[in-house]
Amino acid sequence: MKEEIIEVKNLTYEYQTGTHALNHINITVKRGEKIAVMGSNGAGKSTFFLNLNGVLQPDGGEIRYRGKVIGKKELNELRKNVGFVFQDADSQIIASDVQGEVSFGPMNLKLSKEEVRKRVEEALEYMNITEYRNRPPHYLSGGEKKRVSIADIIAMKSEVVLFDEPTAALDPLSADMLEEVLAKLSAEGKTLLISTHDVDFAYRWAERIVVFCQGNIIADGTPLEIFQNEKVLEQAHLKKPAMYTVYEALAERGLVETGSYPRLPEELKTILK
Ligand code: ADP
Repeated sequence: MKEEIIEVKNLTYEYQTGTHALNHINITVKRGEKIAVMGSNGAGKSTFFLNLNGVLQPDGGEIRYRGKVIGKKELNELRKNVGFVFQDADSQIIASDVQGEVSFGPMNLKLSKEEVRKRVEEALEYMNITEYRNRPPHYLSGGEKKRVSIADIIAMKSEVVLFDEPTAALDPLSADMLEEVLAKLSAEGKTLLISTHDVDFAYRWAERIVVFCQGNIIADGTPLEIFQNEKVLEQAHLKKPAMYTVYEALAERGLVETGSYPRLPEELKTILK
């Protein structure tokens, strides 16, 4: 059994405007899981992520990280271990050059100069952006900025990484790059939670989908369980993934070997009759 890394119990969060963004959220995340977080705009996904990495603090309930309840004193520990890649890189990036940007997190961890330098080198290399090290991040393309914002988190060596709609506004090449990075992070045992509206991406990438609706978790299951649940799809305004629909149509006409639902085109090809 995989170890539990985050436990959220009865989490509630209300903005100062009086909006109840999260109502009694309960969820357990295990080490190495690949979770897609779905739901309409305003469902509470970002607020949930901001609570998970300690930017916001719950109004009620608790968050445990590796069994330890997160109070004010433990917030830095949570922020160090749970990295957050913002949807809009411009709201994450603060430094005037790429190298400075990526060193910002490790410097805040009060690591030695040598360790900071090492982590920055590794992160730049990991994201293939070493050549941009002296460039101002704000003049990079959308895909390049996304690489920088992920390098920020890599340099922190966070165990859990939260991505807020990472594929939004990326061109196809950058979206492919992102999926490669996600695969690499997963292979290294990182725990990944990604909020997304992209049902096709969620279907092929996630092993678990958590659906938010009006501040509540209305479903939590495998992609197949979620996309077979008409009520949940309707409530959260989710469409079925193309691969799922194509497979069902082919299966109905007896054109594929039935049994396991393919997630990728290559898998579909192998079961075509
Ligand atoms: P999602 O990420 O699923 O789109 P959010 O977590 O951003 O949802 O929003 C949940 C609810 O909280 C929405 O009703 C939204 O309008 C409200 N909200 C989000 N951010 C703020 C804020 N900074 N101040 C007040 N209300 C907010």
